[in-house]
Amino acid sequence: MSISKCDILIHGGGPVGLACAAWILQKHPEAKLILLDRNPIHDEDLASADSRGIALSHGSKILLNTINAWPKDFAEIHRVHVSQAGRFGRALMTREELNQDALGHIVRYRDIHLALRQALKAMQATSGNFIWQHLSNGDDGDTISAKCIVHAEGGLFKKQDWVESGRDYGQSALVGLVEVENAAPHQAWERFTSEGPLAILPSHYGSNILNLVWCGSPTSSQHRLQLHNEDFLRELQKEFGSRIGRILKIQDRRLYELGLNYRKVIAKDNEVWIGNAAQTLHPVAGQGLNLGLRDAFLLSEKLVDTFSRQPKDQSPSELQNALQSYAQSRKADRTTTIGLTDFMARVFTSNLAPIVVARGLALSALQWLPPVKTALARQMMFGRR
Ligand SMILES: Cc1cc2nc3c(=O)[nH]c(=O)nc-3n(C[C@H](O)[C@H](O)[C@H](O)COP(=O)(O)OP(=O)(O)OC[C@H]3O[C@@H](n4cnc5c(N)ncnc54)[C@H](O)[C@@H]3O)c2cc1C
Repeated sequence: MSISKCDILIHGGGPVGLACAAWILQKHPEAKLILLDRNPIHDEDLASADSRGIALSHGSKILLNTINAWPKDFAEIHRVHVSQAGRFGRALMTREELNQDALGHIVRYRDIHLALRQALKAMQATSGNFIWQHLSNGDDGDTISAKCIVHAEGGLFKKQDWVESGRDYGQSALVGLVEVENAAPHQAWERFTSEGPLAILPSHYGSNILNLVWCGSPTSSQHRLQLHNEDFLRELQKEFGSRIGRILKIQDRRLYELGLNYRKVIAKDNEVWIGNAAQTLHPVAGQGLNLGLRDAFLLSEKLVDTFSRQPKDQSPSELQNALQSYAQSRKADRTTTIGLTDFMARVFTSNLAPIVVARGLALSALQWLPPVKTALARQMMFGRR
């Protein structure tokens, strides 16, 4: 059994692992880098993969554009309407008041994944020391010795082989595509129901086809998954009211379990954890991948800084210092994003009377206090710097 050697070994060819590899090679094409990927070699074999809509922020668009990995199919959000079912309090955010071209973008997971694979493939020709190894079942790349190990194995809540800090919200998300008659173009709707957040977001298929993310208890979500289309549409329309327009069709329903799972320590010795391997969030604020991309970008800078030096300046202690400095630099962004998402997931699902009233007041405050609204929107769009 021969042992391969490299400077950096990335476990995981999801969006975050791919982006990290691409940013490393862009800045340091000579990097001795191995990427271990469990996904199929050929893009066509990913065709039926995860098609859920992901909200990507303006900050993520800027980052992905630096490596030509911004997908060609996406929908822009120009307005977000936030309300609570059957209670007072609502807020409207528009791109004009925040002086942005868009408040966010909705892209299918598989399109982000494919765009990143293509961007990385384009870099392979000029990266002589880069190995992209596709793993078959039972193979875990344990014949590789690396100076630094990056964990980007990602995963979904309750499907990961580690559990550290966090919370089980006792919720599932039902996602799918809905057709809405005369839907307002580029408008996103977020509605807080007694069971959890319900979002309807634009899609690149056209203004009448929208992405649905309906959070509820695992039992009701399972029930909704199995409902006949007409019954499902009736329940959804009842929950949303008439403001959105008549909901005509539903397709491609899937369920995801939701929770928070995060590591307190994201760098130890020569290992570092990024993306969902470091923190798995509730999708209420649409922050998981946005945060993961920021992890990948900042880590790539630290690793390039270390591994582009002369070999004599690449000691294990230099690397450990670089990883500790990375962990320190991610602290504020991680704490704020994890905290804000956890807060929203809990507060917006509580039915306790004082919290319901406070929630209405908070939504009204967002509407009437522009600085609060702008600060929240900036955190969502760019993260904490
Ligand atoms: C319903 C839902 C809606 C969401 N909406 C949003 C949103 O609107 N905005 C947002 O920013 N985020 C959203 N997210 C979160 C987002 O999907 C994740 O944060 C993102 O996918 C994390 O990317 P990742 O590369 O870290 O992990 P993953 O996407 O899980 O990819 C990890 C990859 O690693 C591979 N792998 C696993 N183990 C190994 C191994 N041992 N060796 C090699 N490879 C391995 C897997 O095959 C996979 O391809 C949502 C999540 C859910 C569930």
